[in-house]
Amino acid sequence: MPDYGFSTRAIHAGQEPDPATGAVIVPIYQTSTFAQEAVGVHKGYDYARSGNPTRTALETALASLEGGAHGLCFASGLAAETTIALALLRAGDHVLCGDDVYGGTYRLFKRVLEDKGISTSFVDTRDPERVAAALRPATRLIWLETPTNPLLKLADIAAISAIGHQHGALTVVDNTFASPACQRPLALGADIVLHSTTKYLGGHSDVVGGAVITSQDEVAARLRFTQNAAGATPGPFDCWLVLRGIKTLAIRMRQHGENALAVARFLQGHPAVTQVFYPGLPEHPQYDLACRQMHGFSGMVSFVAAGGAPAAHRLVSRTRLFTLAESLGGVESLIEVPAAMTHASVAGSPLEVPAGLVRLSVGIEDVDDLLADLEQALEAAD
Ligand SMILES: *Cc1c(COP(=O)(O)O)cnc(C)c1O
Repeated sequence: MPDYGFSTRAIHAGQEPDPATGAVIVPIYQTSTFAQEAVGVHKGYDYARSGNPTRTALETALASLEGGAHGLCFASGLAAETTIALALLRAGDHVLCGDDVYGGTYRLFKRVLEDKGISTSFVDTRDPERVAAALRPATRLIWLETPTNPLLKLADIAAISAIGHQHGALTVVDNTFASPACQRPLALGADIVLHSTTKYLGGHSDVVGGAVITSQDEVAARLRFTQNAAGATPGPFDCWLVLRGIKTLAIRMRQHGENALAVARFLQGHPAVTQVFYPGLPEHPQYDLACRQMHGFSGMVSFVAAGGAPAAHRLVSRTRLFTLAESLGGVESLIEVPAAMTHASVAGSPLEVPAGLVRLSVGIEDVDDLLADLEQALEAAD
């Protein structure tokens, strides 16, 4: 559907009415196997690990939204990451990874893949020159998150992808925080886009899933083979929930962005807050880059509580609308302390985050209610 706009493709790409019944919504094909007329003669599906029509619809839709030729879905974001590693890396290879990535990504590279002979080093990806300097002859992948989690630093996708190409390394962008509504890495030169569909794509905190999108046929073929061979595939109901979620992605992301900017401005002016991180603030040190490579700044805001860890812990137990929970990207607002929750696995490592840091996933509730909730919680935290 190359001629339609983003919102139209979110609703229609891969989601034509069901050919068998006319159902307007793609059915949940809850089956493990498919009848064959003769040996090997079937309608494109034989066994549901290899393929399922509900999953195909989601894979087609996500490829369209990221502007890629191929989409592949997985049982979780980390299953998608594991499949990339299994498909594209071997013992002796090196991965150059951002130094402010999702804690589970750090754990996968350091605690699982290192043992198998795949080494990873971590670098501040805000500066493309530092990335270039940290490349090694064995570097096969550059792994970027932008904006990063939880400090919302940006990486210049176009500049770093070009550096990777000169070196013969592929650039993977974890686009979970921005979603394709706010950022499309393939158009900026990245080779592979990864998502935890658990977050903004699903959008309702009711499903765990992952996806990979690429336009390179050879990379896609290796990923497709490994998707089936390693088997970290999602079930049809989970695919259906993500499909349902992406229909409203564009409108949700607009509201997430609007609410997040209001929350960031409110926090900037609050005496109990020493620092606010949001790429949509003109005061963000990489605001120019944000405007260049993003369309909208998503709903993640982090800030440092003036009273450090104790104040942060008091604050997150006092909000009423902001629910204290890990994860992000749902319609409801969440609050957490990364150092003690999502990023506990990087404590003591170079990726450690400030103890007084509070991360918000700003939802799409009425913004005045969100501001009032933060106001009363910050007052109590003083
Ligand atoms: C949640 C998350 C992941 C991991 O995804 P799961 O679906 O939880 O496996 C990876 N990257 C980022 C940025 C995330 O937020």
